[in-house]
Amino acid sequence: MKKKYCIICRKPLKDGIIINGKGMCKLCEERLIKMELDTDFYEYYKECIRKEIIEPMIKGEDIKCQSYHL
Ligand SMILES: [Zn+2]
Repeated sequence: MKKKYCIICRKPLKDGIIINGKGMCKLCEERLIKMELDTDFYEYYKECIRKEIIEPMIKGEDIKCQSYHL
């Protein structure tokens, strides 16, 4: 199994959650849950999640759509 790293703090993942093949460690997950909205830190989290999880998902869909047309 490939070693996973937390998408937020980049530490090797020992526990936590996996979203679409990307990991978030327990510490960051808890921080995210307790976090107040509209803070810079929250914006940073959102940016990490968007880059690491949402964008690859969208790209994956594009590839699927292209091969469908072929
Ligand atoms: Zn983390």
